[in-house]
Amino acid sequence: MPEGPEIRRAADTLEAAIQGKPLTYAWFALPALQTRAAGLVGQRIERIETRGKALLTHFSGGLTLYSHNQLYGVWRVAAAGEIPQTNRVLRVRLETADRAILLYSASDIALLTPEQLAQHPFLLRVGPDVLDMALTAEQVKARLLSARFRRRQFSGLLLDQAFLAGLGNYLRVEILWECGLAPQHNAAQLTDEQVDLLSHTLLAIPRLSYHTRGVVDENRHHGALFSFKVFHRAGELCERCGGVIEKTTLSSRPFYWCPGCQR
Ligand SMILES: [Zn+2]
Repeated sequence: MPEGPEIRRAADTLEAAIQGKPLTYAWFALPALQTRAAGLVGQRIERIETRGKALLTHFSGGLTLYSHNQLYGVWRVAAAGEIPQTNRVLRVRLETADRAILLYSASDIALLTPEQLAQHPFLLRVGPDVLDMALTAEQVKARLLSARFRRRQFSGLLLDQAFLAGLGNYLRVEILWECGLAPQHNAAQLTDEQVDLLSHTLLAIPRLSYHTRGVVDENRHHGALFSFKVFHRAGELCERCGGVIEKTTLSSRPFYWCPGCQR
């Protein structure tokens, strides 16, 4: 399952292909949207926002395409006019003079006015996205210490998109290792110093992963590169304390941690 950094990078790829250029063609498979496609021609895609696994494609005319990929949906970039060879079912095609973006297989798609966007049930449910660079550690701290979340165990809380969107399983285990925290704790049990560290790390690890994961030429980057410290490392030695990394299942997902230094 892709997590926030991978979803944001996919959105970056779509933006790089068509952002700011007038649309020459728009097409939707859903009958309810077909008649509205022509109205988008001539408009520009201003930006593509991510909210967890939802993508919000904002058009210059004020409408937003909401799409949620669930398990099967996938976006592709193609040349203008190109029909990629695939067995997938095309749902959306948005084209400019030179490039097109295509959404396959997803079925959770809607074209929304700003008022409808503000009332969308998924978006009302989901928390702020860790890859939204406007989100600060202070805001995360306030959320962590709120009555709603302060007594929730980290093992479940860090997978709950209502708390923060964009976190997933590898980020959950890496964030807790980085903070030296055991998964059964909650924010109410931490010192102020620990809460500060966790608030900072809840943003820093996803953003480091977004900026550097998969980067081949390490010399081009100054500073830290993202690498897994415990994820998929059961049986290996912890680089911080030398303890043996263990694996279990928490909140129905594989969980990795170092019993030596996560308390
Ligand atoms: Zn350790």
